[in-house]
Amino acid sequence: MNRFSDSIAEKFRTLHRTLISVEFFPPKTEEGARQILDTAKSVRQTKPDYVSITYGAGGSTRDLSMKYGEILKDDYGFDVLPHLTCVGHSKSEIAEILDRLNAAGFKNIMALRGDPPKGDRNFVPHPDGFAHASELITFIKSRYPDFSVGCAGYPERHPEAASFQEDISWLKHKVDCGADFIVTQMFFDNSIFYSFRDKCAGAGIDKPIIAGVLPALSSKQLSNFSTMCNTFLPDELVCGMAAAKDSEESLKVGADWAQRQVVDLIKNRAAGIHMYILNRAHCVLQLVEAAREASAEL
Ligand code: FAD
Repeated sequence: MNRFSDSIAEKFRTLHRTLISVEFFPPKTEEGARQILDTAKSVRQTKPDYVSITYGAGGSTRDLSMKYGEILKDDYGFDVLPHLTCVGHSKSEIAEILDRLNAAGFKNIMALRGDPPKGDRNFVPHPDGFAHASELITFIKSRYPDFSVGCAGYPERHPEAASFQEDISWLKHKVDCGADFIVTQMFFDNSIFYSFRDKCAGAGIDKPIIAGVLPALSSKQLSNFSTMCNTFLPDELVCGMAAAKDSEESLKVGADWAQRQVVDLIKNRAAGIHMYILNRAHCVLQLVEAAREASAEL
């Protein structure tokens, strides 16, 4: 259905406005399967520039990433950014996956290293695989130069990085290896994103940086993400969530905060806004409408 639409890199080259995107993850249960499809139906009405589908840490969800990537592309008509990680894969397995993605008509890939398995501190690459996302990017571009390739950026530093400066240098290396755009880890304070964007520019990174925004669902979720991803939580958001006491009101607090972030990001000309919606439709319409009200170009 979407075989002839532009890649994400091409959209950046031609549209000259903030791109809006939404992230899905492959479901593991029947109920999860119903939820992603219902959500995809709602999201379709908002006409995002693209949607992404994450890549599971291992096992069966990897096939599900491909399956749901194809459903989102072929049945729902989205331009899709499938994620791919290096975890547990040899180069020849990665080559096979790339061939499948290409044959299925995908034009974009989000190239990631992936996390070590739960409980392990260090990432151990496959003996015939890749140790860093940069190596995966080089490999993708050598085989499929026309794939539009995204990579991850960390406005609050990747947890394993020795310093922020070093992390930015490795990000620059990913761009030098061929990444066409950067999607950031979620953040809840836009000033952190603007400062990251400035530092990237200072380091010579000239590719679009897409801001990751998560409409938070509860206090517990916020504190888990904050610990896992090294993310600063503004007092106002934490207090608002605490006052909502994990009732339905929490969803509204999270969505309203994300809306403020989105409007401010549009005003500050973020190259893109990527919404981590966790397969839930509840606030997508609210956020996209707010973005469109903030900019006549969208
Ligand atoms: P890299 O870019 O390889 O960086 C990892 C660490 O190594 C950093 O500390 C970096 O500073 C350092 N480094 C980088 N290159 C070098 C080098 N050449 N030499 C020495 N050090 C280096 N995980 C999943 O499993 N599935 C997903 O679908 C997924 N999607 C994501 C989407 C986004 C937008 C983000 C931000 C993260 C996502 N992740 C996903 C999580 C990601 O896999 C982890 O954050 C992982 O720990 C790092 O991946 P990376 O691609 O950033 O790695």
